[in-house]
Amino acid sequence: MSNPKIAALITASGGIGSHLILHKIQGHPDLCALTEAAFRSQGGTTKSDLKKYLSQNIFPVKVVNEQLLPKKDVFETSCLILNKPPLKMINYHRTFHPEVPVLYIFRNPVSFYFTWIKKWKEYGERRYRRTVTDVAVFEWFKATFMSSLFELAQNYDSERDSIISFEHFFNDIDSELERIFTCLGVSVIKSEDLEVFRGCSTCGTEKVERKEMKVRGERVEEVLHCHRHGVSLGPGEYNYIRKEDPSFLNKWKSHPDAATISEKFSKFFGSDIIEYYKNEEYLTDTSRIKFDSLIHEFLRILKVEV
Ligand SMILES: [Zn+2]
Repeated sequence: MSNPKIAALITASGGIGSHLILHKIQGHPDLCALTEAAFRSQGGTTKSDLKKYLSQNIFPVKVVNEQLLPKKDVFETSCLILNKPPLKMINYHRTFHPEVPVLYIFRNPVSFYFTWIKKWKEYGERRYRRTVTDVAVFEWFKATFMSSLFELAQNYDSERDSIISFEHFFNDIDSELERIFTCLGVSVIKSEDLEVFRGCSTCGTEKVERKEMKVRGERVEEVLHCHRHGVSLGPGEYNYIRKEDPSFLNKWKSHPDAATISEKFSKFFGSDIIEYYKNEEYLTDTSRIKFDSLIHEFLRILKVEV
């Protein structure tokens, strides 16, 4: 079997479901989702290992230990998925390997922003003992999301790359997975048939119990629990047995600033995209005809044509 190809899952920032999507990808026998440290760490594989792999086909053996759980034989897989690398690193390699696909997660900007208001507030207080104002979060979010999309637009190819719609993913996971697997050139497998890790993420034992516990702050969820190492969670506090529930998707609409923020974002995204989420059109636009046309048009506008 030939060495696995390379693909990348890219996001503008956290808070956009990358861990759920990457763990689903890892559940596919032909795909290997790497950890965030892969090709970027001290001690593990480095950026130069990726260069050597792509230019001289020297397989970076250490990468075998830089994959999500459940671990698998990397050489039996057909594609390694880089975990949120900088897009510019992928664009650099695409100069020589234009076939490398990017999976990019897009989420309703307004609800994504409200997630960050909460995150930055907690993080600022805990880490910097600063209360981050909503205005500061807005400016940071706008700069981060828009520069990421601008960068994506310059090199986006709908035949090679795939936009993962966060809202569609939570509402109909199998149909979004089908798009991902098709983009990566592997067989389509349903979510319930993908492999799931059912052990302790520290010692690997499968003698774990299911317990109701608090995870990620205040949420009570059923989690795997090892009698020696406690709660078994993946990167980003990913709960291996989390229940998928799309009911949170429209909660942003009851935020007191929902109308003001929607109006602000309409100025960069256009009112069509913002209205699409406000009207929860992802529930009826199940084939994504409207979503794809809105996103492709948006990326087309962002692309600088010479
Ligand atoms: Zn353990």
